[in-house]
Amino acid sequence: MNSKLCDDLCAPFSIEEVAAIVRWRRHLHAEPELSLCETDTQAFVRTALQDMGWQPQDVGGTGLAIAVGHGSGPTLLLRADMDALPIEEQTGLDFASRRAGQMHACGHDAHMACLLGVAARLAKYRDQLDFRLVLAFQPGEENGRGAVAMIEQGLLSGGWCGDLTRQVTAALGLHVWSGLPVGHISATAGPIMANVDDFKIIVRGRGGHGALPHQAIDAVVAASAVVQALQAMVSRQNNPLEPLVVTVGSIHGGSAFNVIAETVELRGTCRSFGRQVADQLPSWLRSTAVRAAGAYGAKADCEYTRYTVALHNDAHMAQLVAQCAGQMPNVATVDTELRMMAGEDFAYFAEQVPACFFFVGCGLADGSSEPHHSPRFVVDEAALPIGGELMLRAAVKWLQEAE
Ligand SMILES: [Zn+2]
Ligand SMILES: [Zn+2]
Repeated sequence: MNSKLCDDLCAPFSIEEVAAIVRWRRHLHAEPELSLCETDTQAFVRTALQDMGWQPQDVGGTGLAIAVGHGSGPTLLLRADMDALPIEEQTGLDFASRRAGQMHACGHDAHMACLLGVAARLAKYRDQLDFRLVLAFQPGEENGRGAVAMIEQGLLSGGWCGDLTRQVTAALGLHVWSGLPVGHISATAGPIMANVDDFKIIVRGRGGHGALPHQAIDAVVAASAVVQALQAMVSRQNNPLEPLVVTVGSIHGGSAFNVIAETVELRGTCRSFGRQVADQLPSWLRSTAVRAAGAYGAKADCEYTRYTVALHNDAHMAQLVAQCAGQMPNVATVDTELRMMAGEDFAYFAEQVPACFFFVGCGLADGSSEPHHSPRFVVDEAALPIGGELMLRAAVKWLQEAE
């Protein structure tokens, strides 16, 4: 790539470009759709890409991808996710959700807008793009299914566009992050987001009269013991140097004040980084629940589902993103330490190719921003051009290295 093209692609977004990015984002924010139901979102993104002169193809159901550039050689994937959450928005913004009970409360509207900004910039130099990129708009991140659906349709192999030479070599993705102030970037090497597992435990006792506990087996008391024992599993059974979270998020049982419940259902999630600990968790959970319930004469049946694998950033890719961020005048700090126990299905791309998933601060300087998935979650839109620009810079740097 000649240095003139390189400079042109990496130049800060113009006022008009930023205005378009903000406009796209606000439209998408107002019309959120849940995981794998992103049909209107898909149509909007498709039209925006077509207006730029690209030829988007549907991939992974409600997702889309475009093939960019006419060069040969390695291919870099740039990915944005598309879905919203089943949350009633309470931000009071002018462009707040127009769809009851649905909200872009994780910032995926911002991710799509950033990637559309990247697509628009690339479109201006279409005839000169002597390299290969794939831009992917991925559905269903929040339910952990969309990345896999796109991979199954050949997103990484090139099968999606019928060109197997366009096999993806590396990948970049971003997430706006309200816990980081605007102007802060994080690109951390190694495991940065957790294995996400889902469990259900049914504690079974024997129902009876609330006044005659000696004739029954109380599933509520037994389930309470299970909840406590699961926390002791984290603190006593797990190696303290291995991050692990066990959260029981729901507990349901019983039907009346004077009836001893026969069954109680617990649902929860385990979060870990290491593969070894993740592999042990189903049997730890099962034996802990069975023993704790058994102490009260009750039984416990467990269902355990591995949901999303941990996301590992490639050390070189993370360093490349951090270096590019450090060169941006609108970036104040570059962190290389941030990790979290949340999940992210970009992990399925990072499992197959060297990848970096980086965080773009979109929060207030004093750290008082609402967390992601809150009904009052807001994105400072100053983060949008930073995210798009860093994506472009990192992509260009990677392509230069790959030449
Ligand atoms: Zn989320
Ligand atoms: Zn998210």
